[in-house]
Amino acid sequence: MTRLKTAALMLATTLLTGAAASAQQADVIIKGGTIYDGGTGKPFVGDVAIKGDRILYVGPDSPLRAAQTVDAKGMIVSPGLIDAHSHPDTYILSPDAKVRVNAPWTRQGVSTILVGVDGYGTPDIADYAAQRTKAGVGTNLVPMIGFGAVRQHVLGQDARAPDAAELDRMKALVAKGMCEGAVGLSTGLFYPPQSFAKTEEVIAVAREAAIRGGLYDTHQRDESSYTIGLKGSVQEVLRIGREAGMPVHFAHIKALGVDVQGQAPKIIAMIEAARKAGQDVTADQYPWLASGSSLEASLLPGWSVDGGAKKMLERFADAPTMARIRTEMEKNMRRRGGPGKMLLISAGFDWTGKTLEQMAAAWHLDPLDAALKIITQDANSDDKHYGGAIASFNMIDADVDLFMKQPWVVTSSDGSDGHPRQFATFAEKYAQYVQKRHVIDLATFIRQSTGRTADIYRLDHRGYLRSGYYADVAVIDPTHYAPRADYVHPRELSVGVRQLYVNGRLTVDSDANTGTLAGRVLLRPAPKACPAH
Ligand SMILES: [Zn+2]
Repeated sequence: MTRLKTAALMLATTLLTGAAASAQQADVIIKGGTIYDGGTGKPFVGDVAIKGDRILYVGPDSPLRAAQTVDAKGMIVSPGLIDAHSHPDTYILSPDAKVRVNAPWTRQGVSTILVGVDGYGTPDIADYAAQRTKAGVGTNLVPMIGFGAVRQHVLGQDARAPDAAELDRMKALVAKGMCEGAVGLSTGLFYPPQSFAKTEEVIAVAREAAIRGGLYDTHQRDESSYTIGLKGSVQEVLRIGREAGMPVHFAHIKALGVDVQGQAPKIIAMIEAARKAGQDVTADQYPWLASGSSLEASLLPGWSVDGGAKKMLERFADAPTMARIRTEMEKNMRRRGGPGKMLLISAGFDWTGKTLEQMAAAWHLDPLDAALKIITQDANSDDKHYGGAIASFNMIDADVDLFMKQPWVVTSSDGSDGHPRQFATFAEKYAQYVQKRHVIDLATFIRQSTGRTADIYRLDHRGYLRSGYYADVAVIDPTHYAPRADYVHPRELSVGVRQLYVNGRLTVDSDANTGTLAGRVLLRPAPKACPAH
C-alpha cells in the first residue's frame, strides 16, 4: 500500500470515531431514542445525526453539535419504512402539491415505495423519473417496468402469442427500461391481457431484465384455484426465475379462497426448497385478511373480457355465451366464499360499505346479477369513477401468520384506493401482529419494513441507519402508533409518527405533513448490457 493510500485510510477510520466527528456540525440530532437500525442487531438507546441528505452518525451519545435537536426519549427511531408493493398514483400523480406529499404513506413513516407493480409500470423509466422529479413527491419512488404495459403496447388486449417481431419489440422495451434505471420487471399474470401470455413468453421477456441485473416481481398467475392453482403458479414463478436467470419475488404472497386456505406450509416448503437449491426467492405480504380486487377480476372468466369492455358487453348480450359466463362466475363466487365475503368498497355509490349479498337482497336480485349490474354499469360509464372495487375476505390467520414469520418475507401495502391497507398497513401490522397478537416482534417488523426490503431491491444506501446512508429516518411513538382506517372508512390517516425525514428533510412533524416534497426517483446506474457501455 502506498503511503498516500495509508493516510487516506487512516483519515477515513478517524472520521468514524467520535474524536474527529466532534469537530463536525450536524443539521439535526435525534437524541436518546431506541434505535432499530434495520439490521439484525439488537436495538439500543442512542443518537442519529443528519447532515444534508445523509446520516452523519449513529450510536450512543453523539459528540456532534447540531443546529437542531429532537428529543426522542421513549421513541422508536428507525430507517424510513419501505413499501414493497403499492398503487399510489392517486397521490403521486396529483396536480396538487398538497396531495403529492403522499400522506397515506408518509403518515405511517414510509419514506420509499415500489411502483409500477403488477405489470402496470411504464417502460419509459427516464421519462417517468423526469416528470416525477419535476413535479416533486413526498416519498422516494422505485420504479419497475410492467410486463403488462409492454405487452399491451405491442399486442393490445389480444389473447394470442406475439410473433417473432412482436416479441423482439417487447424485449426491446424491457431492455430500454432497464437501461434507464428500473429495478426490474413486474408482472400481473392473473390479469388479462397479461394472463394470455404463456410461461415461455414471460421467460423470454424477463431475460432482458435479468441480463441487466433486474429482479422478477410478480402478482402470480393464480393465488387460488382459478387456472393452474396456487401450487402450479408458484412452480411457474420458480421456473421463470431459473430459466430467465434472475431473483424472483412474490408480490403479496397469500393463499386466497376456500380451495387453497391452509396451504401456506406447502407453499413455504416449495420456496424453502428452491432457496436451498440456490435460487434467490423472496416475497412481500400485507397484513390483512381481505384482498383488494374487483368484481370483474374476481368473478368473470378471463376469456370473457378478452378484447376489452365493448367485446365483453357483446358476450353478455349473447345468451349462450352468457350462460357459459354465469357457470364460471358461480364457481368463482364459491371459491371466494360467497357474496357475503365480498365487501363493495368503491366510494360514493349506493353500495359502498355493503356486501354483494346485502346489495343483491336490496335489489331483489340473485348475487350474480347484482355483480353483473355493477360490472355492466362500469363498462358503460365514460367517467373513471369505478364502482366494482371489492375487499374480498379470503385469507385465514393461520396462513397470514405463517407467511409473516418467514425471514424472506417483507411488508407491503398493495395500497390501492378504497382498501384500508393504503392508509394503514404498517400501523395495522404493528398494532395487530406485533402488539396485540405477538405474531412477530418489533425488531422483526422494522427489519421486514426497512433493511430486508432494501436488500431485496438492492436500494443504494437505503433501508439502514448507518453513517453515510441517505437520511430517511422515522421517529415513531410506540404508544400512539396506530391505524385509523378500516374497510368502511378506508381513508383515515394513521397516527403516531413524530417525525419523518426523507433525504434529510423533515416531511412529517407531530402527525402533520410539513408540505415538503423531498422524495426522489431511485434509479439504478445503467447496467453493463446497455448502449452507453
Ligand atoms: Zn397485485
